[in-house]
Amino acid sequence: MTKIVIATSNEKKLAEIKALLCELPIEIIPQSQLGIESCAEPFNTFIENALVKARFAAKQTNLPAMADDSGLCVDSLDGQPGVLSARFSGGNRNDEDNNDKLLSDLKNIENRRAHYYCALVFVKSPSDPQPIVSEGIWQGEILKVRRGYNGFGYDPIFMDYKTDQSAAEISPELKNRISHRGQALQKLKQKLKILYEEKK
Ligand code: IMP
Repeated sequence: MTKIVIATSNEKKLAEIKALLCELPIEIIPQSQLGIESCAEPFNTFIENALVKARFAAKQTNLPAMADDSGLCVDSLDGQPGVLSARFSGGNRNDEDNNDKLLSDLKNIENRRAHYYCALVFVKSPSDPQPIVSEGIWQGEILKVRRGYNGFGYDPIFMDYKTDQSAAEISPELKNRISHRGQALQKLKQKLKILYEEKK
């Protein structure tokens, strides 16, 4: 089993990622388990932040590393909250406050189209010149009130266009299949298969 460090401490994201990559001959270790603090995410784009997180984790641990950066982009807010999704209502990363702020910002706004976006990066080493990059987009719209109890973040107020259910109403299994992170992971999985299964 090849060990891969993952630059997230979000338990729910970690569970989604482990579930999706479970068939590969890899062991996924969260960087927090190795005593590594999370690094700054200073950039304006998801991809740059994912890359800096993956390189940092690889440098700290001497292991191949994977990182995601994701968030919610709302059309009528010019793509906000975007890379600031976790801290939309301030510095405290509070999901309830973030949802309240978004509902309030969209009060009286008719166009509620939005999508979740995920950039996923894998590096074999800190200076890997060929990071593997994949992305996923999940289209939907922002509800006027919260619905459902699953998931995390903006899930209670994000309605999936295909099922007309909120991301907090659908099962974790379905979310894993259709979400931004699920799509990005499925693409990454195919690329990691080539890298690791052929070496077995
Ligand atoms: P990151 O941990 O810096 O990637 O921040 C991601 C933030 O975007 C989370 O804290 C959530 O606010 C939001 N987000 C990303 N993916 C999801 C999701 O699947 N459901 C709900 N919110 C999400």
